[in-house]
Amino acid sequence: MNLQANSKEIFLLIKNLVSIPSPSGHTRKVIDYCEQYLQGLQLEMKRNRKGGLLITIPGKVTNQHRMLTAHVDTLGAMVKEIKPNGRLKLSMIGGYRWNSVEGEYCEIETETGKTYTGTILMKQTSVHVYKDAGDAKRNEDNIEVRIDERTESAEETSKLGINVGDFVSFDPRVQVTESGYIKSRHLDDKASTAILLRLIKWIQENGVELPYTTHFLISNNEEIGYGGNASISPETVEYLAVDMGALGEGQASDEYTVSICAKDSSGPYHYGLRKHLVQLARENKIDYKVDIYPYYGSDASAAIRSGFDIVHGLVGPGIEASHAFERTHETSLINTEKLLYAYLLSPITTI
Ligand SMILES: [Zn+2]
Repeated sequence: MNLQANSKEIFLLIKNLVSIPSPSGHTRKVIDYCEQYLQGLQLEMKRNRKGGLLITIPGKVTNQHRMLTAHVDTLGAMVKEIKPNGRLKLSMIGGYRWNSVEGEYCEIETETGKTYTGTILMKQTSVHVYKDAGDAKRNEDNIEVRIDERTESAEETSKLGINVGDFVSFDPRVQVTESGYIKSRHLDDKASTAILLRLIKWIQENGVELPYTTHFLISNNEEIGYGGNASISPETVEYLAVDMGALGEGQASDEYTVSICAKDSSGPYHYGLRKHLVQLARENKIDYKVDIYPYYGSDASAAIRSGFDIVHGLVGPGIEASHAFERTHETSLINTEKLLYAYLLSPITTI
């Protein structure tokens, strides 16, 4: 059964996913959403203790398994302290630069689930007041949250129910353009999650038989380094992380192809699996790029580090300006989806 590309459906799924706040450590709502999306498809689904969602589709061969993972946790922040002026000091969740969130709208969620809106600002923002507004260092000491409530003291902010440890999420500002781009925060890695969810649905609805029992893990701690490094069945031979391709000067990846990672900070990915993915792309006329990501780790490398004896790989859509003002094009999403589908139906050739 040929997969029918449907970028509208992928865009809608991505929009829904990025609109649910899910900084690492606070991902239950988005995992609920993923589970609901797959509801009614007669799937074997369970949550692991870390809160990730594991979906299993039995295949023809049951003693050799495959596993694919994408992560739904995102960058975010936590209230580090309430400042004497009532504003909030932040502690980062995940790795980014403060300048990439400066000026961003945010949401603070209290322990009781009440939410407040705010804006992430440099304390030296007003050029009418601060001579060093442009040059002041963008760091934890100068970045603060201006809450959209009347508060001028730590006491008043505390009365709102805001406390140290509350999660802060960034406004995704998602937009789909006529020219086929999707611009949003958190395309890393909700774009890949959307692709996996749609593939699972397609397989089930069309009664596609997979050659091997295949597990799909929607992981929820990748940005902090220990996402998909558990819940791996002992029969798992191949473990493929589906995560963003990194773009920038000197990078081969772009916003139009599927990026196949040869090596990242953790070292080379499994050569045999990489070659298999490249061959599948060629055979199926899927536009791809092989690339190296200089400052990068994935759920697959985390699994290797945790001691699993698996064949590991990494593919994904090319995401521009990652961990900041992200963007990709529908062609990259579709090429990724096509390659994953071809892979799921292909034989294990790596051992
Ligand atoms: Zn990331």
